[in-house]
Amino acid sequence: MSRGFYIGRFQPYHNGHQAVLERIARSADEIVIGVGSAQLSHTVENPFTAGERVLMLTRSLAELECPFYVIPIEDIQRNALWVAHVRAMTPPFDTVYSSNPLVMQLFAEAGVDVQSPDMYERLTHSGTAIRQRMLDGEPWEYLVPPAVVDVIREIRGVERLQRIAGSD
Ligand code: ATP
Ligand code: MG
Repeated sequence: MSRGFYIGRFQPYHNGHQAVLERIARSADEIVIGVGSAQLSHTVENPFTAGERVLMLTRSLAELECPFYVIPIEDIQRNALWVAHVRAMTPPFDTVYSSNPLVMQLFAEAGVDVQSPDMYERLTHSGTAIRQRMLDGEPWEYLVPPAVVDVIREIRGVERLQRIAGSD
């Protein structure tokens, strides 16, 4: 049984993440997905709550032919202890899929097998670019799975982001 681990902030979850997870699903028996910086929400960089992000992921992956677990993980301000913190919150996993240099380094030092998935149209498919489009009132819906459009509509996510980006 091989269980893979994938972590992101998913602010919001987008088609780049989805493409990577669909690829991981072909080689792993199960996938553990960490929702990072789980304690953050209602900021310009992190507009959505952990619960809202869990909803985005769970609904978008409903058709995935691979069991998955979505687990919020709060930040700790100690990188040296971070792998243990992640492991304390997740089902056991043997392979980490990440292209984030710090994540790769910390897991490699802990002796975990790390694989770097290829990027999927990274220029447009990035959380930062999508949040900027929402702020600018530009189309962003085509960059995320349809289920994410529904969640963001349901929680009035674009209005939230535009309001918190305003000045007093
Ligand atoms: P932000 O711009 O807010 O940092 P992001 O698009 O980088 O958003 P994260 O939640 O930071 O999204 O990313 C989680 C993981 O997904 C990271 O390891 C990141 O490298 C990876 N990732 C992000 N965009 C893509 C993409 N287009 N294709 C493949 N992997 C991606
Ligand atoms: Mg990122």
